[in-house]
Amino acid sequence: MAHGVMFLGTGNAFLPHGRNHSLAILDRKHLIDAPPTALSSMRKYGISPADLETIIFTHMHGDHIFGLPFILLERKYISDREGLKNLKIICNKSARPVLENICRIAYPGSLDDMFEKIEFCYDNQGSFSEWKYTRFPVKHNDAVDPHGYKFTTPNGGILIHSGDSGPCDSLYENIEDDCLFILEMGVPEWVPSEEHHKPSHITSISEKHPNVKFAITHTFVDMDSAYPETVTSILPEHPENVIHSEDGDSWEFKDFWRKNIY
Ligand SMILES: [Zn+2]
Repeated sequence: MAHGVMFLGTGNAFLPHGRNHSLAILDRKHLIDAPPTALSSMRKYGISPADLETIIFTHMHGDHIFGLPFILLERKYISDREGLKNLKIICNKSARPVLENICRIAYPGSLDDMFEKIEFCYDNQGSFSEWKYTRFPVKHNDAVDPHGYKFTTPNGGILIHSGDSGPCDSLYENIEDDCLFILEMGVPEWVPSEEHHKPSHITSISEKHPNVKFAITHTFVDMDSAYPETVTSILPEHPENVIHSEDGDSWEFKDFWRKNIY
């Protein structure tokens, strides 16, 4: 069986036209983050909250966590009423009270029993299903516990997820030949931020690693130019090994990473 990753959303916090919040899922059952649009994205691509075995959190910004109450509420009252499905959450230890808090604010009392059943895993490396992961710190607002992940597919593919991060060694030192690198492009060139990648950062790192495929997500670029622009609908120009992701894109690993064409 080929294993892989699908983009359920590819937009940054500001929801550029035609994109939901950046969201990736491994093998259609292990979610990376839970943005406000997560349930909408999952419905669109036929994934039920009850299908989820694992949710892996990169950091605690709202566009990465505020979808959790809706996922848990849906599981409890619709897709897993009997409570038969297990759910594992992989996150930094300090993330747990934040996640419990947002669920308590959203639905006081209703989700407490869900948290009693969730298996929390705080280890910096470990496994879920047949996948392996390592978590590492990245360059983003320290107040939100920012991390990236390196995943290994059951058949040996390497997948790196930047979370939200500016350029930094702790992220780049994970790069291996032939890996797939899911990399955020949170801000345009003119924004004075060290905490996100800009188009020029992506050009520079991708030129250094021509054998790595860079799948760009968490982008500021509108998909649909029919509306007034959010910021811009023009994609930056990048080397050939950079692919600007669209919602619904998916990649499979079998000997090498390949993008599915529908
Ligand atoms: Zn962030």
